[in-house]
Amino acid sequence: MANSQYEYVKSYEIPDPLMPNTFAVIRVDGHAFTKFCHAHEFEKPNDIRALDLMNRAAKAVMHEFPDIVMAFGESDEYSFLMRRDASVYGRRRSKINSTVASIFTSNYVFYWSEFFPKTPLKYPPTFDSRVVLYPSPKEVRDYFSWRQVDTHINNLHNTCYWALRHDGVSGTEATKLLEGTFSDDKNELLFSRFQVNYNNLPAYFKKGSVLVRTDPRLTKGPSQRDAECTEAADPSGSTTAVPSESGPSLPGSDPATTKKKEKKKKAPKPFDGRSGPTVILHTDIIKEQPFWAERPWLLE
Ligand code: ATP
Ligand code: ATP
Ligand code: MG
Ligand code: MG
Ligand code: MG
Ligand code: MG
Repeated sequence: MANSQYEYVKSYEIPDPLMPNTFAVIRVDGHAFTKFCHAHEFEKPNDIRALDLMNRAAKAVMHEFPDIVMAFGESDEYSFLMRRDASVYGRRRSKINSTVASIFTSNYVFYWSEFFPKTPLKYPPTFDSRVVLYPSPKEVRDYFSWRQVDTHINNLHNTCYWALRHDGVSGTEATKLLEGTFSDDKNELLFSRFQVNYNNLPAYFKKGSVLVRTDPRLTKGPSQRDAECTEAADPSGSTTAVPSESGPSLPGSDPATTKKKEKKKKAPKPFDGRSGPTVILHTDIIKEQPFWAERPWLLE
């Protein structure tokens, strides 16, 4: 199309690329979700339907962005880690930031009725979003540790608060009772007053959710291994997928030709986390083992 006399205004759109070779974390957070939860009668302290819906929306974001190799979700927020060599959208910050928030929000609404079949949406939920750049793996690790420590602190507090509320204690009184208490006091309160051992609560609530892709070459294939599987919640347990003993042999394939073909094959590209089935884990992401040690590509 011919240039018009007005086109010069385009030059006011200043390029905003993310600094090269830096890790980007995009975090979305529900806007005024305290009110949204109340309006939609979320179960307290943890409504699993809402957490599952958050995970579904996060999965959609990862589907759209192969360069997002990991996501961590808790409460009404989700953090997405983008590889430092990502070149998507020319690394334009506002394009990436706004697209992530938009995909997340539209999927949250799109899948709402699947997770809340009996609760119609009263008004459209919205999410804000920001991008933060980190220069090295240390800051990325510390970022995710920060979010998971937050998950634990909030969950312990909310578990106590709602145990008291469900026991007939008023909001003001419950807040007062918990004021100035430490973790040990809260654990003791749960145990002595409610016979609840905090350690036995689901890892889903205590540790939040992590989405990562697994190397398809290490899985038994999508037919045997559900691409949407939720892996073990045991933080101490290894989460590496077990390689199948031998590759699938095609019916009628001649062993001699197969050998020839194998010779020609180049060395396989190392897994970079951009492809493969997405799995949901409820595991420790503060310690090195096993999560980070098993997935060196996340910090490449
Ligand atoms: P802002 O717009 O500043 O983010 P907010 O009201 O969303 O305000 P947050 O700090 O983000 O404040 O807190 C989110 C609120 O939503 C918390 O009260 C949290 O307990 C609640 N919430 C989020 N997810 C769930 C869930 N799955 N089940 C129960 N409550 C939830
Ligand atoms: P990008 O993601 O880069 O924006 P795009 O496919 O959305 O890619 P645009 O330049 O934004 O590309 O163009 C929008 C397209 O949608 C055009 O082809 C336009 O004709 C079409 N379109 C938008 N609104 C309407 C409409 N109301 N009726 C018919 N076509 C429409
Ligand atoms: Mg916020
Ligand atoms: Mg919020
Ligand atoms: Mg929040
Ligand atoms: Mg467009």
